[in-house]
Amino acid sequence: MSEARTVAFHTLGCKLNFSETSALSRLLGQEGFVQREFTEEADVYVINTCSVTENADRECRQLVRRIQRRTPDAFVVITGCYAQLKPAEIASIPGVDLVLGAAEKFNIATHLRDLTRGDSARICSCDIGEVAGFNASFSVDDRTRTFLKVQDGCDYTCTFCTIPMARGKSRSDRIENVVRQAQILAGKGVREIVLTGVNLGDFGRRQSGSEDGEEDFLGLCRALESVAGIDRYRISSIEPNLLSPEIIEHVAGSGRFMPHFHIPLQSGSDRILGLMRRRYRRALYAERIGHIRSLMPHAGIGVDVITGFPSESDEDFRETFEFLHELDVSYLHVFTYSERDDTKALDIKPVVPVQVRQERNKTLRNLSYMKLRHFTERHAGQTRPVLFEHQDRDGMMEGYTDNYIRVRAPFRAEWVNQIVDWRL
Ligand code: SF4
Repeated sequence: MSEARTVAFHTLGCKLNFSETSALSRLLGQEGFVQREFTEEADVYVINTCSVTENADRECRQLVRRIQRRTPDAFVVITGCYAQLKPAEIASIPGVDLVLGAAEKFNIATHLRDLTRGDSARICSCDIGEVAGFNASFSVDDRTRTFLKVQDGCDYTCTFCTIPMARGKSRSDRIENVVRQAQILAGKGVREIVLTGVNLGDFGRRQSGSEDGEEDFLGLCRALESVAGIDRYRISSIEPNLLSPEIIEHVAGSGRFMPHFHIPLQSGSDRILGLMRRRYRRALYAERIGHIRSLMPHAGIGVDVITGFPSESDEDFRETFEFLHELDVSYLHVFTYSERDDTKALDIKPVVPVQVRQERNKTLRNLSYMKLRHFTERHAGQTRPVLFEHQDRDGMMEGYTDNYIRVRAPFRAEWVNQIVDWRL
């Protein structure tokens, strides 16, 4: 199928998936493929799936059906977390030609060199325990900031999570490679890098050519300070037990690491945290927030939380609500618990009725709204640096302050990709 020269991508899920899709598109670009929009006709369509997305299966089927209606002869490849977890289920979707698991994802160019369409999809997958390599990737979002993957996989065993089954063991890039990538990005005019990983604070694990523990996340932060041209770094999300006081102090003393943290809490009840097999309890979480606030009163702090984990009682939820209510954080990302195949949480009883899960979600979303409002109002009148983006949205432009407040201003071409001191 040597005439196959155009490719279109669709990405589901997190920033990590987006950065990997960008890497796949660059790989295929080197093979001579020209990229098309997903809504356009192409010879090859690649869907990068997610295991966290609810109804991943249905979403995938719908996308394949849409491709088939528009371009019945196109070659359809499914990869990503869901493809690793449920290859047979995906291969059974009519119209799918190739399923690439975690180990094969970055060999996509080789697989596409000899594409042949069959009656049933070819599955190229292996046991997740065998997935060991690290593939660096980054995505350039709006040309002002980029998501740079520095770590992949996770060794933790949180009972609600399928990510370790989809992405394998924790492994990382080497510091010198990350620094090199940052230099390349600086050369492309990128001003801000968001460091991304599955369990970012675990950086340093299973790097090729070095012993475990030789390099760590703090060392990475220190090394990145020296890259000329990158003005801003953000830490996408970090487990509270791995966000050491030294990392917090580094960010506080750095002109480049932004005063902005995203720290998963998941529950404010120690009983539920235990059942989730999280590696901290609420006291440690509160201590970390206190440490950040003592050094960076202005820091933006986001929190992930799950409602309706099995056996979460009204009392457990009240504890979570009150804990978060008292905690000086800026916003919440609230997830409703949903059952995932092969997770330990399925054995925990009683299950919380879906309606109760959703009501609790709504209560926390209201709390988040109030927190964000309070946080933003607290900064009214202050002058903070804003990195403005490219889009002209009806005469307005947008950007983020250092501490992650979204700002809108009348569009000025000379401010695009510039850091401007802005009075809030
Ligand atoms: S830390 Fe827990 S929730 Fe996060 S990826 Fe690892 S197992 Fe999943």
